[in-house]
Amino acid sequence: MPTSSSHITHPDLLGSDEKLLRDSAKDFARQIIAPKVAQMDSNAQLDEHILQDLFEMGFMGIDIPVEYGGAGGNFMMSILAIEQISQVDPAVGVVVDVQNTLVNDAIHSYGTEDQKNYYLPQLCANSLGAYALSEAQAGSDAFALSTTAQEFDDHFVLNGSKLWITNALEATYFIVFANAEPTEGYKGITAFIVERDNPGLSIGKKENKLGIRASSTCEIHLEDCIIPKDALLGAIGQGYQIAINTLNVGRIGIGAQMVGLAQGAFDATLAYIEERKQFGRAISDFQAVRFELARMATEIETARLLVYSAANLKSHNKPFLKQAAMAKFHASEVAERVSSKAIDLFGGNGYIKDYPVEKFFRDAKIGKIYEGTTNMQLSTIAKLLLR
Ligand SMILES: Cc1cc2nc3c(=O)[nH]c(=O)nc-3n(C[C@H](O)[C@H](O)[C@H](O)COP(=O)(O)OP(=O)(O)OC[C@H]3O[C@@H](n4cnc5c(N)ncnc54)[C@H](O)[C@@H]3O)c2cc1C
Repeated sequence: MPTSSSHITHPDLLGSDEKLLRDSAKDFARQIIAPKVAQMDSNAQLDEHILQDLFEMGFMGIDIPVEYGGAGGNFMMSILAIEQISQVDPAVGVVVDVQNTLVNDAIHSYGTEDQKNYYLPQLCANSLGAYALSEAQAGSDAFALSTTAQEFDDHFVLNGSKLWITNALEATYFIVFANAEPTEGYKGITAFIVERDNPGLSIGKKENKLGIRASSTCEIHLEDCIIPKDALLGAIGQGYQIAINTLNVGRIGIGAQMVGLAQGAFDATLAYIEERKQFGRAISDFQAVRFELARMATEIETARLLVYSAANLKSHNKPFLKQAAMAKFHASEVAERVSSKAIDLFGGNGYIKDYPVEKFFRDAKIGKIYEGTTNMQLSTIAKLLLR
């Protein structure tokens, strides 16, 4: 996949390579994912063939260079794929998001050459990754984590438990944050790459969730988990910086997931209101309904422009923290409002599982919670404004 870059944020003005990637993700989502969405949601289980197909299509290593087994695309392409896939199923969208914007990004940005050569080709071809930062007592205050890493001559020993870990059920590799120097507070936080078959790692309770149900969210336990020295990601004490930097990138991905979700709910609504007749006319003839439609479309467009703008700033190595926080904050609010309004416009049919808007509404709630709650985004934006 060739690399191209765009300074422009409107979807119609994307580069040709970006449009190609977007269209292939759109076709994949409609043809392969769409028929399985309802079943995956009710079973709370990701279809294993879809996971395999995501790898085969190159969607699990989009902006990783070809020399490491990736598709050699750019960051905007990852954002477009997350958006298109989330338009059909935000649960599959987050699987693609975590792989590309958190796990691959962390290893590509902070891994040694040996680590990049070892892990990235697998992560791009067939191995799912997970990102394990949160704990029961360390959510918004993530760096209050209590998992420890004890250093010995040729290995580390990890002990602790992680909560809410996306992809944990299917993952082969876990980026685990632990404190190697607890007396140093957050300055002791360190990142490690832990393999699933490590006897000291076990997968705990799988959460039964409101939305994005096909994406697994589990506890993980580390009990005298011995890991070799060469599984240290970055330097001892660099975990804090790695977590902040990767989550800043990941936030743009969650913004894209929420824009896709809102667009999916909008498209379903548009089709429905033209079909549904009351008082002898399509309900889309009523001005009150048309105004709602116009509001929804405008909100989606503002959220998409914010997400693309943040993605472009990141791609061009410009400061993007404020825009990433704004994109995630705004896109998750838009997703919630648009999917709620979609249910209103479907009437009774919006409230049942025969139509897709009920699931979009449930899926939307997570946008305001993970990778930093809305309050955390607002506090970042305010801090950067006041600096
Ligand atoms: C489905 C799902 C998937 C997830 N996936 C992952 C994953 O893959 N990896 C991972 O590490 N984590 C993951 N998480 C965890 C997620 O990032 C946390 O849930 C999130 O950061 C919020 O933490 P908390 O749940 O402990 O809420 P809390 O921090 O307890 O927050 C509760 C409320 O208090 C507010 N609040 C807290 N502190 C402040 C403050 N200082 N100022 C103002 N308001 C405040 C919050 O905004 C929120 O409204 C996932 C969570 C879910 C639900």
